[in-house]
Amino acid sequence: MAETGAQTREEIRAVLETFSHTPRAHVQSFGCQLNFCDGEKYKGILQDLGYELTDIPEKADVILFNACAVRAHAESRVIGRLGALKAIKEKNPRLIVGLCGCMAEEAEVRALLKKSYPFVKLVLGAGAMERLPESLLAVYRGEKHYETLAFAGLPDEALPTVRESGFQASVPVMYGCNNFCTYCIVPYVRGRERSRRPEAIEQEVRGLIEQGYKEILLLGQNVNSYGRGLDEEISFPALLRRLDAIEGDYFIRFMSSHPKDATPELIDTMLQSKHIEHHLHLPVQCGSDRVLKEMNRHYTLERYLQTVDYARQQSPDFGFSSDLIVGFPTETDEDFEGTMRIIEYVKYDNLYTFIYSPRSGTKAAEMPFVSTQEQIAARMSRLLARQREISEDFNKRFLGKTVRFLAEKHDPETGLLLGKTREGLVLEAAGTPEDVGRLLHVTVTGVKNWALSGRLER
Ligand code: SF4
Repeated sequence: MAETGAQTREEIRAVLETFSHTPRAHVQSFGCQLNFCDGEKYKGILQDLGYELTDIPEKADVILFNACAVRAHAESRVIGRLGALKAIKEKNPRLIVGLCGCMAEEAEVRALLKKSYPFVKLVLGAGAMERLPESLLAVYRGEKHYETLAFAGLPDEALPTVRESGFQASVPVMYGCNNFCTYCIVPYVRGRERSRRPEAIEQEVRGLIEQGYKEILLLGQNVNSYGRGLDEEISFPALLRRLDAIEGDYFIRFMSSHPKDATPELIDTMLQSKHIEHHLHLPVQCGSDRVLKEMNRHYTLERYLQTVDYARQQSPDFGFSSDLIVGFPTETDEDFEGTMRIIEYVKYDNLYTFIYSPRSGTKAAEMPFVSTQEQIAARMSRLLARQREISEDFNKRFLGKTVRFLAEKHDPETGLLLGKTREGLVLEAAGTPEDVGRLLHVTVTGVKNWALSGRLER
């Protein structure tokens, strides 16, 4: 197998040598963090084959769109942008245009491409990324190559990666999902849960920390169900403890957690750690048990709030954020009042809110709406307005405290650094471009909406 891979790479390199210019590749990722992380691997494979990476599609000899299937309107935008590549293809007949990622796993999408966008010759499913070299070679040989649906396994641990950042790194710990929430397409396009071996994750994280990375983001669709099905099963908190033991100065963050798998052991592990954030992104989705059942979320509000209460008993400052869907088809005004009660009770630091939009191929897409779009929009406005007040008020708990902060960006116009604290809160503070990528101490001096402002302690 390795022999075949090496041979394929040699054959592609031989093709690239016939180019009169440096062969270039352009990869654009859309959607979730996991997709962006896959995009770094596509770039790594292409670079390893001999392509120079470019941000300019017009200069590229290979253009890959690595696209997400979660939202229907985002998919339509990607199709539109693929269509716009036709003009570039006409100018450069050797250009290979490809679609990869979970959007490429959808039969409807593949059929549409074949029919209406025949210049998109390479279609590679989210679980088939290591087959990129053989797919490219097939296209160079003149074949129309459609490669898909290899999502039962794990990507090869040896795949090269081109990391976008020199201080923040995403590390997938598991792929797929077993939950089948009725509004979500992920289990159909990313397959069932499978976890990477803890040794491989530890080795990767250790290597990143040795290279100076300051933030490790562990990723999985359902990260806290990590470890099930491995020969030697291991829990997610046990994995976290193993990673936290690595020497160095860094943060560990992770997403997304499923409420049904959030345990006191997880909270204890976070609070007793040296490096793990003191904040949990725990998507509640809705504040009505009836709707949660129809969403097939596998928890009740009582179970959800047990986790919140436990964390706050251990540490009153412990922060939560959440995803919330407003306007699920069967949501009534009364159900929405439950959502308002939840945000009052939990006092989220931050909320990621979505107006429900049907995703074809899911159960919820068949459910009739009981509310009008105007009612749903009014609920959303009310939710956002109240949440802004709650965040601002609750985040005042940090006023006057000194926190650790990773500076992610520097704005030359304002002189402000922007980044996140160990508690997962956005913070800005005056600093220099040299501070970007450093873990700093900051005393919090102000709170605005969901963000903090502070003063660096040098
Ligand atoms: S837990 Fe639910 S929402 Fe999350 S990926 Fe799985 S099916 Fe989708």
